[in-house]
Amino acid sequence: MSKGTLFDKVWDTHTVQILPSGQTQLFIGLHLIHEVTSPQAFAMLRERGLKVMYPDRTVATVDHIVPTENQARPFVDTLAEEMMQALENSAKENGIRFYNIGSGNQGIVHVIAPEQGLTQPGMTIACGDSHTSTHGAFGAIAFGIGTSQVRDVLASQTLALSKLKVRKIEVNGTLPPGVYAKDVILHIIRKLGVKGGVGYAYEYAGTTFASMSMEERMTVCNMSIEGGARCGYINPDNVTFDYLKGRDFAPKGDDWEKAVSWWRSMASDADAEYDDVVSFDASDIEPTVTWGITPGQGIGISEPVPTPDSLPESDRAIAQEAYSYMQLSPGTPIKGTKIDVCFIGSCTNGRISDLREAAKFAKGHHVANGVKAFVVPGSERVKVEAEKEGLDKIFVEAGFEWREAGCSMCLAMNPDKLQGDQISASSSNRNFKGRQGSSTGRTLLMSPAMVVAAAVNGKVADVRELS
Ligand code: SF4
Repeated sequence: MSKGTLFDKVWDTHTVQILPSGQTQLFIGLHLIHEVTSPQAFAMLRERGLKVMYPDRTVATVDHIVPTENQARPFVDTLAEEMMQALENSAKENGIRFYNIGSGNQGIVHVIAPEQGLTQPGMTIACGDSHTSTHGAFGAIAFGIGTSQVRDVLASQTLALSKLKVRKIEVNGTLPPGVYAKDVILHIIRKLGVKGGVGYAYEYAGTTFASMSMEERMTVCNMSIEGGARCGYINPDNVTFDYLKGRDFAPKGDDWEKAVSWWRSMASDADAEYDDVVSFDASDIEPTVTWGITPGQGIGISEPVPTPDSLPESDRAIAQEAYSYMQLSPGTPIKGTKIDVCFIGSCTNGRISDLREAAKFAKGHHVANGVKAFVVPGSERVKVEAEKEGLDKIFVEAGFEWREAGCSMCLAMNPDKLQGDQISASSSNRNFKGRQGSSTGRTLLMSPAMVVAAAVNGKVADVRELS
């Protein structure tokens, strides 16, 4: 049993009671909602004549179904329009803060909450979306929940949950050039497996994470769920506090110092006990690309697609399924795989630092003939900032399309979809079969810089070779 960890402290601080089932009734500090998982939850509340218990702890935005080209209302997709209206009405009816399109604050739920300072250390955060783990970058315990749990949080601001074990994942050393936070988390998931984190919270520690920016830390925590961990976090430090200071919802004046001192006290103790500890060396990590149909099927750019006999017995059946679906042969290099579509965006890599880094490589190059490449900012604020810095012009000159904020082709619950068996180089987080909108569409996950390298070369390429 973990002891003295941030996870323990946050859990204990938010425990309302231990239920007869043995589960904990946990208070949720911040509930983030969006248009996809909330309509049914609000309907269930209405059926029971209940109101939202803490509207001021609930924040809504729209992201999944939002078109990134033509955002004129009503949307062409009538189902999307219905979902929009349902959330608009529910937010109004319950007095919930709602960041709608054009508010200047709309965007992917896991991008807008951190950028406004809503996400803070020591919090419990829930949202009807798996990638809520993103917010753990601030030293919060944050997890995705299902629709009936969204209802429970709306009605009671609490959840019935079983406590997780804690695995400390240490990565030490300096990342080699061309290797990013995305490569680090893809490497971790490759090594520990997509189910390795089931029953665990992941605590990321070590010098590599200590020297990452908050946005890089968010990329890492975002994909904890892809490794099976319900949540992942990094202990709050000066990088966290510097990021938060002055943001809209960050404490101000005397409250700031009090908050920082409380936040520091929530970090894991030096002598904290963990249920498991694993370590990696940053210098062993290469720019990483997935070749298969799970985020755990990743390889370094210089490696070939693994052969069945190089894999553990337990991974061979899913590997066979992946070779066939992805139309890739074991033993062949991943580098050089032809690409049809390049997507930069999502709650994993749609923040301003991601766009800055991608633009650095896009500048002076051009998207290869026959490749569709597009950039989707994670939020309206990211879009405004990128345009202020001229990043949009760099992308457009390089042959990328520049879009409005939303989830876009991460999930394709909007017009941005792969066609047929097109293959995409994507900065998103899931490469499941059909994830990007076509039942035969294929996805290769990688960092935004690697997506640019793929776009420019028309095939999977090593960003370290792009000047
Ligand atoms: S960007 Fe993708 S993973 Fe993130 S919230 Fe949207 S659909 Fe979910």
